[in-house]
Amino acid sequence: MLPLPLQALTPDALGRAFGVALADARKVVAAVHRGEPVEAATGVRREVLRAIREGGRVPALEVRSVQRSELDPFVKLALATPDGHLIETVRIPLERVGRFSVCVSSQAGCALACAFCATGRLGLARNLESWEIVEQVRQVRATLGPGQRVHGVVFQGMGEPLSNADRVLEAIRVLCDPCALAIDARAMTVCTSGLPVGIRRLSREAPKVRLGLSVFSARQDVRRRLMPIAQAHPLDEVIDAVAEHAVTTGLAPMWAVTPLAGVNDGDDDARALAELVRAFHTRTGVRPRVSVVPYNAIDVAGRDPYARGDVSRFLGALAAHGLRAHLRYSGGSDVAAACGQLAGRA
Ligand code: SF4
Repeated sequence: MLPLPLQALTPDALGRAFGVALADARKVVAAVHRGEPVEAATGVRREVLRAIREGGRVPALEVRSVQRSELDPFVKLALATPDGHLIETVRIPLERVGRFSVCVSSQAGCALACAFCATGRLGLARNLESWEIVEQVRQVRATLGPGQRVHGVVFQGMGEPLSNADRVLEAIRVLCDPCALAIDARAMTVCTSGLPVGIRRLSREAPKVRLGLSVFSARQDVRRRLMPIAQAHPLDEVIDAVAEHAVTTGLAPMWAVTPLAGVNDGDDDARALAELVRAFHTRTGVRPRVSVVPYNAIDVAGRDPYARGDVSRFLGALAAHGLRAHLRYSGGSDVAAACGQLAGRA
């Protein structure tokens, strides 16, 4: 049997894997996440520790580059998996000084080919393992100084997290565990292009974790043109699942739209989105939080296929139709760390 990646195990899972009492498993998990050898777990029998050391390992992602934006305090890490895939992770500063969120990748590449996204142009290489997801947070944590800490995690990096739901849910359990990374589940968000089965699973298995939905356009014909997944899962079907998530969890979903000039930034788009939000609120009693995310160029050669929509005008059009949305700052665009730009470059 291959050694188990210890940083991807909760105390429960470690206890089951090695036949260890839960109290001992907690001490071992805490040692692993303090960056210490398993022998640092005090009060655990020596033969138990030896079995864990022999049957487990703490594999690493190789840091290929750390790029600091000159525009804002965003930092992008390019990390190599043991089989040579480059993935990207972004350290996002939060308003409270010394607090950070980590934007993690869940896949190397992505199969869903959304037209406005650099990752979508790569195709899918493979799903990331749960340890590779957890390790991204540990790597970002390693860049922090005294008094700084990781407050939240957003699954919005490379890949569609709900296409890799088993590993993403495993990683969430470890990230939340008080003996492991102890991140509050309510400070985590899983962002999806709209996979109904995965959305329902998230509401059952991680009910404190927030859901983000890339709406792109509330008009199904427009959405289908630029998000191929919308052909398999029309917006109505996705919204049914998001409504179930909202009712089950009581959490307001985050809806994101990225206006592209002449594509989805017209008055019709604003009206359709405002109507969709109203209908959702009436149906569930929960009001989605709508973010307008400026489009970030995805072609470094300067031949970008789209132009950024006029964000202020679109926000104004939404307001005219009775919807208050907010502008989401998407930082690190000079180091290709902003929303839509991640493409596995060192
Ligand atoms: S937006 Fe998300 S789901 Fe769409 S191609 Fe990019 S990574 Fe994949």
